Amino acid sequence: MRIDIITCLPEMIEQALSCSIIGRARKNGYLDLHIHQLRDYSTNKWRRIDDYPFGGEPGMVMQIEPIDRCISALKSERDYDEVIYTSPDGEKFDQSHANEMSMLNNIIILCGHYKGIDYRIREHLITREFSIGDYVLTGGELPAAIMTDAITRLIPGVIGDAGSALSDTFQDNLLAPPIYTRPAEYNGWKVPEILLSGHEAKIDQWKLEQAVERTKRLRPDLLK
Ligand code: SAM
Repeated sequence: MRIDIITCLPEMIEQALSCSIIGRARKNGYLDLHIHQLRDYSTNKWRRIDDYPFGGEPGMVMQIEPIDRCISALKSERDYDEVIYTSPDGEKFDQSHANEMSMLNNIIILCGHYKGIDYRIREHLITREFSIGDYVLTGGELPAAIMTDAITRLIPGVIGDAGSALSDTFQDNLLAPPIYTRPAEYNGWKVPEILLSGHEAKIDQWKLEQAVERTKRLRPDLLK
């Protein structure tokens, strides 16, 4: 899968997406990540990408021209399934969106900054808008990195044990069951007997019951 991220702070995203499973997914060719410095598409000699808003609002707005030039350059090279804008007023990004996006071939993620982007970009160039939560961040870089991480771990082959990502919280609208590792007893705190029994079918049944019980208790909204 190819993801193109457009940003004025490439180093922030590069750092977040170079480690651990996502770093390996890039090295092994599962994720073809391209991070574009938006200032490279400015026609201004100081590489400016922002300007004052019409109508006298305080703060600066990202200009339409550099963003259009960057998106057009990418689109002239390949087709994109989605052009995503990270925005606090977008659809709330969740695991079902991560699943859906992980099936696509090429996506663009545009990171806003300042007061946001010229609204015409949202009206004419953006196909999806995602928020990572009801709070306002300085820029779209962390949301873009978070979405890329959530999507990439679902690409087949990225996580060695194929079952692992599919048994995570939110898959099947359930929270994950409790997990434990050695020692089986620590300070008198014991791992549930069933997990030491070796009975695979019974263990699976226990895990499902735990997942349902935890979901009912902690996130009943997921079961509606
Ligand atoms: N003035 C905008 C508003 O009230 O909706 C907020 C702009 S925010 C300071 C700058 C940029 O950060 C946004 O354009 C967006 O790209 C990104 N951003 C901020 N919070 C976000 C969130 N919760 N989810 C996704 N992106 C966010």
